[in-house]
Amino acid sequence: GAAHCPPVEGTTHVNTGAPASDTLAARFTGRVAVVTGGASGIGAATAVRLAAEGAAVVVADVDGEHGEAVAEAIRAKGGSAVFVRADVAEAADWDRVVTAAHGFGPVGVLSSNAYACEIAPAHETSQASWEHQLAVNLTGTFLGFKAVLPDLRAHRGAVVLTSSVHAHMGLPGRPAYAASKGALLSLCGQLAVEYGPEVRVNAVLPGPILTPAWGEIGEADRARSAEATAARRLGSPEEVAAAIAFLAADEASYVTGASLVVDGGWSVVKSSS
Ligand code: NAD
Repeated sequence: GAAHCPPVEGTTHVNTGAPASDTLAARFTGRVAVVTGGASGIGAATAVRLAAEGAAVVVADVDGEHGEAVAEAIRAKGGSAVFVRADVAEAADWDRVVTAAHGFGPVGVLSSNAYACEIAPAHETSQASWEHQLAVNLTGTFLGFKAVLPDLRAHRGAVVLTSSVHAHMGLPGRPAYAASKGALLSLCGQLAVEYGPEVRVNAVLPGPILTPAWGEIGEADRARSAEATAARRLGSPEEVAAAIAFLAADEASYVTGASLVVDGGWSVVKSSS
């Protein structure tokens, strides 16, 4: 796989995820997709998935080493991809992303995954930390949307914002992260209405997905989270990528302003935490 997301010893994770790439449809042939946070986890899986379905992909991330590796992995499979080092919270970086995308063509898909999360309760969260998390998670998504909007409007593009179940579910130590993820859902609805005839805007709300951050969490905590889901396991980045690809594809032509929870039933299990 392209993501630097190795299987973690002792986890209950089972990858029943996306179908092999040779069985995939080609829903994105001739389209250009920009994937932020594309160097790792859900973003990397989304970049790989969209490319496997024919998209030319711009992998945008601050992490050059892994971002280049994802783009290279896509090219090694015959796909089209380029890495662009970009901080989503910097408007000037978006100019470089769009310029790189135009090497392929006008942008038709934006998948926004880059995020910052600094775990601390509100009373221990500095204003600088708060503002950084809002800048990456919320402002970064807004700036990316604005940067590619002219292309999206001209070509009936689709945007998929990656929110989180923590937009709705409280979890200690994530005040700025949760607030930014909730705000993304408000933004999603607003943008869907504002640009409705031309651009579809949807959100995915992942639950516990086995990405590098979860690899750093202790095995007992991972197992507890897995047991708290209806699926009784953590999800894979590929399983979120499949949902993002659906929302980005023409199949979802009448789906806009929607939120798709991809959490193995975590948020509907009684007394989940
Ligand atoms: P990840 O850490 O594997 O990948 C995140 C990527 O974002 C990294 O490559 C990182 O370098 C990049 N990034 C960070 N700041 C950036 C910036 N300013 N500009 C550009 N790139 C930046 O994370 P992931 O778990 O795949 O998360 C992807 C998305 O999914 C996030 O929006 C996250 O909130 C959401 N999510 C994840 C989970 C989960 O369990 N993994 C659950 C709910 C929501």
